[in-house]
Amino acid sequence: MTPNGIPQSSPEIVDLTHALIPGEVPACAGHPCYNASLSFGISKGDFANVHTLTLGTHTGTHIDAPYHFFMDGATVDRIDLSLLSAASAVVADLRTKAFHECIVWDDLQTAAEEIEARHVRVLLLCTGWSRNWNKPNYSKHPFLDPDAARRLFELGVRVIGLDTMSPDKVTDEEETADVHRIFLGSGGIIVENLTHLEALIDYGWKHITVSLLPLNLAGCDGSPIRAVAWEGTQ
Ligand SMILES: [Zn+2]
Repeated sequence: MTPNGIPQSSPEIVDLTHALIPGEVPACAGHPCYNASLSFGISKGDFANVHTLTLGTHTGTHIDAPYHFFMDGATVDRIDLSLLSAASAVVADLRTKAFHECIVWDDLQTAAEEIEARHVRVLLLCTGWSRNWNKPNYSKHPFLDPDAARRLFELGVRVIGLDTMSPDKVTDEEETADVHRIFLGSGGIIVENLTHLEALIDYGWKHITVSLLPLNLAGCDGSPIRAVAWEGTQ
């Protein structure tokens, strides 16, 4: 295993999802804290094990649907699932980006060329910041320049996924939302709190396919997902 917990040999499926462990899931201020508790337990003499969950639409690895910021935007049950199901993806290697550093268009040149050549609609931004999951500095991640977000949409990108809690800059004083507004406002989808994106680069996979499917939560603005990737075109 590497320090990131990534197996050194390439597996068939890479899990890009943080495990949800009660008390170990960071949440934005005011969002519900994750919990899972046994309502029925075989060890207590019950017929089966059944958990009760407490979570929000932005708990752990999740997607933001346009309705997150726009009343007339698509809710999570109405988004185009072809964008999130067995979809080709490009990964941008941004591991040199530091605390609160901006990711600008120049940083995305290699990824942009591949997106354009292969008409890929999913871009994953690998900052390596998931190593700070549930640490005090998790919110101090690199962030995306709003103009770069606009250009990515114009290039054909419809899903931006990150290994941070937001594509926007988050400080103790304020949480900005320019990239959210530009990308969701254009009908795009944002995936947050991914992990193990490094593996997709380090394994040297030529063509990456991802599944990022949400729960079918009627009328909701986002949903936890189980994000996975594999090599190949389907
Ligand atoms: Zn979110």
